[in-house]
This record gives sequence, structure tokens and C-alpha cells, in this order.
Amino acid sequence: MKNTKQRQAIVRLMEQNEGPMTAEMLYEKLRECCPTIALSTVYRNLERFCAEGLIQKESLNDGVVRYTSCRQHGHYLVCTQCDKRIRLQSCPLTAVEEEIAKQTGFSIEGHSLTIYGKCPDCLRKASPDSSGRKTEPF
Ligand SMILES: [Zn+2]
Ligand SMILES: [Zn+2]
Repeated sequence: MKNTKQRQAIVRLMEQNEGPMTAEMLYEKLRECCPTIALSTVYRNLERFCAEGLIQKESLNDGVVRYTSCRQHGHYLVCTQCDKRIRLQSCPLTAVEEEIAKQTGFSIEGHSLTIYGKCPDCLRKASPDSSGRKTEPF
């Protein structure tokens, strides 16, 4: 029963938070409602939610793992080579939606946007002899 309560608290916090959270950030917030919760419990639940598809895990180049609720509105950059997903910091379409609504008379209810490409890691692997810097175009 107690575990269920902690689970619900984690899901609720993930949905309320704007943008991604690290396990430590989540742990700090959780202690306000569940003072006895352990950091290992937070990690275990986060891993389970990832497996269940409730939340998404992402690690940027800084090596820090962040979690985002899948129910939150957001857009992703997806690497077509390694499937890495990076969440965009904000929605770039809010202004576009307003413009389209004005032009077409539509009442806009939502949108989806995913950007595909190759991540810096995969680009580096694809051309091992370049050091990542572009040569000057002389
Ligand atoms: Zn990649
Ligand atoms: Zn959006």
C-alpha cells in the first residue's frame, strides 16, 4: 500500500513539473510529502516507469540522466542512428499555432513535432579522422 502511495506521488510530481527532472530533484520534492522515502526507491520507481513507458529517460552530453513525464507536452530531437532522444527546452509552435488559427479560422487543439537527425556522437563515429573541428575554408 505504501509503495503505491509513493508511486502515485512520483507520477504526480513528474506531471506537474515543467520540463525534465533528475532523480535527486525529484527526491528533494518527494520528501515534502513522503519524508521516509529513500533515494534508491526513487531510482527503482523511475526505472520501472521508463520500462512501462510512463516517463522518458534522457542523458545529454553532460552525462546527467533526466526524466520527463510522457504526458507532458513536449518535442524531441531523435537520432536516427542510436535512437537517442533529447527534449527541446520549449515548444516552438505556440506562435505558429496562433498565426494558423488566425489565417484559417481553425480552433487549434494540439500538434505533434519530432525532429530527426544524427547526434554529435554518431557524427563523430561516422568520420573518425576528423577531430570534430571544421577546417578553415581557404
Ligand atoms: Zn546518435
Ligand atoms: Zn508543442
